[in-house]
Amino acid sequence: MESNAAAIGSPLLRLLPSIDELLGTETARTIAAETGSRRVTSLAREANEALRNELLGSDEDTPQTRESLLAKAADRMKTAWAEQNSGALRRVINATGVVIHTNLGRAPLSEAAKKALVDVASGYCTLEYDVMSGNRGKRGSHAESHIAELTGAESAIIVNNCAAAAFLILNVFASGREVIISRGELVEIGGDFRIPDVLAQSGAVLREVGTTNRTKIADYERAFTENTAMILRVHPSNYRIVGFTERPSLADLAKLAHGKDAILYEDAGSGALIDLTELGITDEPLISSSISQGADIVSFSGDKLLGGSQAGIIVGRRDLINRIRKNPLYRALRADKLTYAVLEATLESYVRETALSDVPVLRMLSATQEELAARARKFADKFSKRSDQSGISIELIEANSVVGGGAAPSVNPKTTVLALNHKTKSATVLEEELRGALVPVISRIVEDRVFIDLRTVSESEEAELLEILLSCG
Ligand SMILES: *Cc1c(COP(=O)(O)O)cnc(C)c1O
Repeated sequence: MESNAAAIGSPLLRLLPSIDELLGTETARTIAAETGSRRVTSLAREANEALRNELLGSDEDTPQTRESLLAKAADRMKTAWAEQNSGALRRVINATGVVIHTNLGRAPLSEAAKKALVDVASGYCTLEYDVMSGNRGKRGSHAESHIAELTGAESAIIVNNCAAAAFLILNVFASGREVIISRGELVEIGGDFRIPDVLAQSGAVLREVGTTNRTKIADYERAFTENTAMILRVHPSNYRIVGFTERPSLADLAKLAHGKDAILYEDAGSGALIDLTELGITDEPLISSSISQGADIVSFSGDKLLGGSQAGIIVGRRDLINRIRKNPLYRALRADKLTYAVLEATLESYVRETALSDVPVLRMLSATQEELAARARKFADKFSKRSDQSGISIELIEANSVVGGGAAPSVNPKTTVLALNHKTKSATVLEEELRGALVPVISRIVEDRVFIDLRTVSESEEAELLEILLSCG
């Protein structure tokens, strides 16, 4: 306090640039062009204030000039502006090898989906309009009929996401009534989606049966009361119980539920619209098979293995889907035109049977280790041709990618990564620099090296990635 008081009015403070001077700098003018004068003035005030406090707090008398303080203040403005901007939604390069990366926006879109998105967003569209009759049309009907066709279900409906779908289904069919679920399926998916909590919020009463690892059909049967509305089967997604385990088949659950006038609902999570065995994915429910085994209602996500936009897709019996559509909650949870644009285009790839090559998530998962090794080798060659001054050295290493998004946790496709080492910088510093690039590159550190997995980097991003790596050298 004493020293601060003494410093007030010190010659140094008299050199502090005014707000107007600060606003006259090139930095301020550049920022103003992007963000407008109100924001830049507040940035200038903050920079000025911070610099004043710094000068008051320091008792050393390093020589300062008006110019050096002005430059310092402008620099602070620039940093504060960059910090504010870092929160903005923008594209990143996913070099983690986690294909459905929830924090990075899950599924990248197919070319057709991107085109449909821009087309529909660029003007008005037929969201609820029938061009044949000139009358009001039904929102989402095209996407819904594709889904019904692909899954063999009578009917389909789309909401905001799969969590909303589960909530809506439980609320419509089981509010104030009992839902039977195995203790092995009372799971948490992605931090804030816990099956018991969703059930409670929906107004349904949870009747848990069996044990964590084993639940038999008789356990379900014994739990039935007059007030039972539903059997709920949840795909444990990011969680697997292995070893001494047992659970009834969906067909057996369907038989039991139907004999008791109850509904069988399966929350499939990711699910799969087509057989993905050739990608090594055998433990995600095939939606068409859930339907043919007798599930009355099935829900799954639009942006997991399906590879489209965030959405909760519900398929099943027509009478049940109609009841959902009539419920006021559906209105609150319905999807927007951008979602339908993306889903329609993505689903068309499935209908055409070109999904494995069109849909990026499936394409990335289909890439073999040989293909990825060849891409990595080519990339490393290009890098070494350009990088005689670089401190970065690249080694190719066999590793594993991850499906992600809570799907197929035990499938870890083999890959070949670029393992980066820097002469002087630690892996932590290099990883941070990559993240700080104009287009942030998200990588991972394994044993003091930075791993770049090209499985999740599209070929069109490779040139960009090369330049970023060179600039970190
Ligand atoms: C991922 C998942 C959800 C949530 O899906 P969102 O589309 O992210 O809301 C719900 N249930 C299961 C079983 C899941 O795997």
